[in-house]
Amino acid sequence: MTPGLAQRPSPGDAQPAEQRDSDPTPGGPPGAAARPAGAGGAADSALGLRFDDPVLEVRSLSLWYGRSQALTDIALTIRRRKITAFIGPSGCGKSTLLRCFNRLNDLIDGVRVEGEIHFEGRSVHAHDVDVNALRKRIGMVFQKSNPFPKSIYDNVAYGPRIQGIRQRRRLDEIVEQALRGAALWGEVADRLEHSALGLSGGQQQRLCIARALAVEPEVILLDEPCSALDPIATARIEALMLELKERYTLVIVTHNMQQASRISDYTALLYLGSLVEYQETERLFINPASKQTEDYITGRFG
Ligand code: ADP
Repeated sequence: MTPGLAQRPSPGDAQPAEQRDSDPTPGGPPGAAARPAGAGGAADSALGLRFDDPVLEVRSLSLWYGRSQALTDIALTIRRRKITAFIGPSGCGKSTLLRCFNRLNDLIDGVRVEGEIHFEGRSVHAHDVDVNALRKRIGMVFQKSNPFPKSIYDNVAYGPRIQGIRQRRRLDEIVEQALRGAALWGEVADRLEHSALGLSGGQQQRLCIARALAVEPEVILLDEPCSALDPIATARIEALMLELKERYTLVIVTHNMQQASRISDYTALLYLGSLVEYQETERLFINPASKQTEDYITGRFG
C-alpha cells in the first residue's frame, strides 16, 4: 500500500470543509489575468485563484502528446468539496488536464508531462505512488456512460470486489449506498439483477457515478458527463452533483457555459492549452478579469 495515497482519512478525522479552508480572496482586479500565478497560498491573481489547504494543486504543468504540446504552464488549485468547472473551446486541453489528476494520461503512448500535481499535499508523480490507489481516491466519470455488460448490481459491486470485498451482505450495503448516493436507488431497487444496458442514458450515467462512489473516492472527475443526455436527464445529473459536493470534491469538464454557471463554484477557462482565467464562477461570468474571457463568454470566439 502506498503511504499517504492509499490511506483515506476516516470521516471522523475530517474537519468540516469550511473550517479547513479559509475563504478565498477573489482574484485581482481586471487586468490581473496577465500576471503569472504563484504556487500555493491564498488567491493571488485572476489567472490562478489559490486556496489554503487545496485538495489538488497544479504547478507549472505542461504536457505533450508526442511533439504536440497540449498543456502549457498550468497552475491552479482545486478547492475541497466544491465544484470546479473547466470550460473552453474544443481541443483546448480540458480533458487532458482532468486526466492528469489521476494519471489517466499514463495510459496513452508518447505522453510527456512536466511540472507537478499534488494531491493532498503529495505529488501524484512520486516514484512510490500506487496508481490504482490514486485512481480509487480520484474517480472518473466519462462523457459516454460506459456500464459493463453486467447486471446493475455487478456494475456497482465491481470495484469493491476488486478490492477484495466478498461478503454478500457487505456488498449489498455498498451497492445500495452507492445507488442512493447517485440518486438511482428508487428507480432500480427492484431490478438489481437486470442488465445495466437496459437503463436509459441518464440512468446509465448515474450508474457510472454510483460505480465511482462504491469505492469511496474523495474527488470525482466528470468529463462532459451530460453531453449525450437530454435536458431532463442533464438536470438530474446537475442536481446530483450539487448533492455530491456536500461530501466530495468535483471537477467537471463541460463545453456548456450555462451548465458551468449553474452548478460550479469556480471556473477555469482554458484556451490553446493555457489557463486564461480561473475565478469564482459568478465573477468569471459577470465580471471577467480577462478580455479573452469576456470574448469567449460573449461568443466572440470558440
Ligand atoms: P478538450 O477536452 O478541451 O476538447 P483535449 O484535452 O481533448 O481538449 O485535447 C487537447 C489537445 O490534445 C487537442 O489538440 C487534441 O487533439 C490533443 N489530444 C487529446 N488526446 C490526445 C491523444 N490521445 N493523442 C494525441 N493527441 C491528443
